[in-house]
Amino acid sequence: MKTETIKKGGKYEPGNFTLKAKRSSAGLGLYTMDPIKKGDCVIEYVGPVVPKEEWDTINSLYLFEVTKKKTINGAVRSNTARYINHSCKPNCEIDIRKERVFIMAKRNIKAGEELSYDYDREYFDEYIKPKGCKCGAEKHLYNTPKKVTPAKKKVTKTTKGKKPKTKKGAR
Ligand SMILES: [Zn+2]
Repeated sequence: MKTETIKKGGKYEPGNFTLKAKRSSAGLGLYTMDPIKKGDCVIEYVGPVVPKEEWDTINSLYLFEVTKKKTINGAVRSNTARYINHSCKPNCEIDIRKERVFIMAKRNIKAGEELSYDYDREYFDEYIKPKGCKCGAEKHLYNTPKKVTPAKKKVTKTTKGKKPKTKKGAR
């Protein structure tokens, strides 16, 4: 799981943190064994680029729309970042740089903490809300009953949102 770096020693070079996938409230989650400082690059979200012809047919919960023209499928083993769960009060955030997806620390994170970021409303409404969010935040995001008119937006079977993420077996 070597991630190529954008620039050695630069802001977007993932730190050498020990990250472990472990059971969490929402199935598996990714935990850091090391403290991480606010602004640090934690890890890159990686995966093969999905050819445009497959955008509407591929079925993966890990699709990540990097740009309007580029979607990657993070369902590969090498993509450790796929274990990071959604949180309504996340400690990480997504930063897209040069068509690559980086997960940055939004605040200082202590050793042992579970990593999380906000998957955005589109993913939340489709995959998280039906089961209920298990992130543990006092207040969950997107809970305003916003009526989504499915016909309005061309939503395909895939998670074309800006969100990757899993959550399949979460119960
Ligand atoms: Zn939540």
